[in-house]
Amino acid sequence: MLIQPEANPHWDEHEEVHFFEDAPSGLRAYIAIHSIGPLGISGGGTRMKAYPRDEDALTDALRLSRAMTHKMLLTGASSGGAKCVIIGDPAELKSERLLEALGRAINTLDGRFVAGADVGTTNDDLRSLARFTPYVERTPPTHDVGSEMTARGVLASMLAAAEQKLGSRDLAGVRVAVQGLGKVGASLSRLLHERGAELVLADVDTERAEALAKDLGAGTVPAADVLGEEADIFSPCALGDVIDDDTLERLRCRVVVGAANNPLARSALAETLHGRGILFVPDFVANIGGVLAGAYPSECTTEARRERLAERVVGSVAREVLERASARDITPLEAATQITAERARAAKQKSAGLPQRATRALMGRLWKQRWFARTVMSARTALSNRAVAASG
Ligand code: NAD
Repeated sequence: MLIQPEANPHWDEHEEVHFFEDAPSGLRAYIAIHSIGPLGISGGGTRMKAYPRDEDALTDALRLSRAMTHKMLLTGASSGGAKCVIIGDPAELKSERLLEALGRAINTLDGRFVAGADVGTTNDDLRSLARFTPYVERTPPTHDVGSEMTARGVLASMLAAAEQKLGSRDLAGVRVAVQGLGKVGASLSRLLHERGAELVLADVDTERAEALAKDLGAGTVPAADVLGEEADIFSPCALGDVIDDDTLERLRCRVVVGAANNPLARSALAETLHGRGILFVPDFVANIGGVLAGAYPSECTTEARRERLAERVVGSVAREVLERASARDITPLEAATQITAERARAAKQKSAGLPQRATRALMGRLWKQRWFARTVMSARTALSNRAVAASG
């Protein structure tokens, strides 16, 4: 069902917002499409979470789909930004039947939304979902290229920040506190270890933290203490909203850069961090690497290519943001917001031309054809499989 949530402050002129309900499976989901790209599609993750109120799930979908548009613009990807949010605890509600109902819901959008994974859904879920809809990113079973690329992007942003704040891109001996050692945090820690960083690791899953620390010869601290750890760099890779008015006072670092979405409880805290001399690289710059895996699978087929792609795209966006912030004496968040707005305006102007409108209409018609979507998505999966094979 198409809805028009203009009253929601995050509505922000989304192209389409839908609510889907399927009583037999318990599916209740929003799909928010903030922008449809020049090739007639939008992409974004599928989040599954218990929300106190339906309105909170809608707000999450709207905020995250808008952020996806920013990420697509910053990476130069041809998709627009979107997000699917399923209401419910995945441990209790997720089932094959629910994924089938979600697949049917996605099919009604005729390819305007292509689903990826997010918090509460896994790559296995996507492979199940792909039995019911062709409009889904199918990733290989053994290696999560998206999370690895996110970690590589965080590293590239960290190098840009280290250059500006610590005076060198050399991370040897630089003390980095990593909060959250899941798919991205663990991958990032390994990359930092290869560069000789001194690591302090923390996860609420202490066994996970201990095992990784043993592997990398790193130290650990309790999850509750990592934010206040004395370090050159603090890297939030767990949840959002970790820096609020209280926790900000505890920070003992010079740089904050990580994968977690919305690590600041309020955007205004970017000013406070700036005032305290802490360089904060915005999350929607640092964590865009995962988008690259979906947008440029042919450039992700070997480890060396993935490293180059992350540095070329994420590293240069991060440098552009930090250089503008420094030159204009504004926060990196303000600089990143300005750059995204400029790119959005340029993209809008470009897409207003007749050839671009015709291309989008034609591609829209092609995406409607399930055989076309299936062929394109299979080709992308084949490329991702090559990336896995190349990773050993
Ligand atoms: P994940 O679920 O694999 O890992 C999260 C880890 O954080 C888990 O090990 C969990 O135990 C730990 N954790 C939870 N609460 C914690 C706390 N209070 N203190 C310390 N550790 C805690 O998730 P992920 O895929 O690694 O993503 C990490 C973050 O990055 C998320 O916020 C996600 O939205 C964001 N992100 C991920 C990607 C990606 O490609 N996976 C892309 C963009 C953004």
